[in-house]
Amino acid sequence: MPEARRHALVIGAGLAGAAACSALARRGWRVTLLDAADGPASGASSLPVGMLSPHVTRSPTPLSRLSALGVADTLAELRRLVPEGAGWQACEVDNLGHDPGRWPAALVRPSSLVRAWLNEAAALDALTCVWNARVHRLRVQNNSGLSSTALWEVWDDQGRPLAEAPVVIVAAALGSVGLLTGDAGLLEDDDLPLRPVQGQMSLAALEGTPLAERPQRNDGVFVPRYQDSGLPPRWPETIWTMGSTYERGLTHTDVSPQAHERNAQSLQAIQPAAAEHLRAALTQGRLLGWAQVRCASLDRLPMVGAAPDTAALRTLMASGQRPRVRLADVPRRPGLHLLSALGSRGITLAHWCAEQLAAQLAGEPSAAAPDLLEALDPARFALKHLRRQGGARQRPTAG
Ligand SMILES: Cc1cc2nc3c(=O)[nH]c(=O)nc-3n(C[C@H](O)[C@H](O)[C@H](O)COP(=O)(O)OP(=O)(O)OC[C@H]3O[C@@H](n4cnc5c(N)ncnc54)[C@H](O)[C@@H]3O)c2cc1C
Repeated sequence: MPEARRHALVIGAGLAGAAACSALARRGWRVTLLDAADGPASGASSLPVGMLSPHVTRSPTPLSRLSALGVADTLAELRRLVPEGAGWQACEVDNLGHDPGRWPAALVRPSSLVRAWLNEAAALDALTCVWNARVHRLRVQNNSGLSSTALWEVWDDQGRPLAEAPVVIVAAALGSVGLLTGDAGLLEDDDLPLRPVQGQMSLAALEGTPLAERPQRNDGVFVPRYQDSGLPPRWPETIWTMGSTYERGLTHTDVSPQAHERNAQSLQAIQPAAAEHLRAALTQGRLLGWAQVRCASLDRLPMVGAAPDTAALRTLMASGQRPRVRLADVPRRPGLHLLSALGSRGITLAHWCAEQLAAQLAGEPSAAAPDLLEALDPARFALKHLRRQGGARQRPTAG
């Protein structure tokens, strides 16, 4: 008898969720994708154009290592799935501030990649999309969460079941918090420290010659020219952009003249002439804006992998059975996975992270460095906070 196709629910149709759909579909899985919006890439992934570029630091950090892997991986995905010029273009970027230098990069409209991944999963006959489906509640059918064959159900706010599968991937950015913590009771608040970081991009039609040869980054990125017929309706096809502001704790998506002015100030340090250009466009009513909310974790690294079972972890730690509880020892909630906290780097990180998660689910060995995977493990916060509570009983250990 042929083996039944494995089935996963993915909640969230941005870069994270779409990359997960593609990674699972290519492994033969069936995926049901649910999103509150009426189509894909409605949240932060509706970014008109963003930078795919390495995060350069003097000595390697988890984020710099991760972004080096992610840039190569995403470029390969773009080349495989999206014709250059139809949602992305290769470029170089000049880093002007910290760690200056010129780096290979690309300008990417995330929705082009999101749609390409979903089209690929659909072409493999692997994808069911459920739009206008705000998931209100996630429930494991056996209710204990301890069986290795859990069945996860998702419900809307009217108490209607939306879908069910043995595996669920929560890729709902900040929406993940309501689904998992508080009354949801699946994770404790400290286990999922996701924070909003609002940002606004300023942009306008490019008229005349671009004001720089290539994108420049200091505090924000100035893109002197980007051309794309897939930008929002009524927007010009060829634009320059400056952004984005970085406002911790804000959750609104209103475009404001104050945020445009902050972008002008950042641009002043990059290209004073371009800053004048931005201010003139604002005064003349030609300046466009786009604002959305990033989702960042406390340590600014993504959360990728199986969700911890904090109650079972607490019991394990209190039992003293293991003198040093490591991430690998943390009990997990069978079938419940996270792919979230992509912060300011979703274009770079979504696919690499989704590949790691899909490989874990498929039981494939990973080629990634174990310490890097541990740095992304969603159980790291639960382990840390229980170690703190445990005090003398649990001495902190690496990993
Ligand atoms: C101003 C700004 C500039 C940026 N610039 C760059 C850049 O230059 N380079 C870069 O790499 N990244 C950049 N980013 C970050 C990038 O946009 C994000 O990292 C990425 O889009 C996050 O993708 P995601 O899928 O995790 O989240 P989102 O795209 O926000 O997707 C989450 C989805 O979950 C859905 N959802 C939430 N709750 C529920 C629920 N209960 N039920 C069902 N669905 C739900 C939402 O509708 C949404 O579609 C920028 C972000 C901003 C805001």
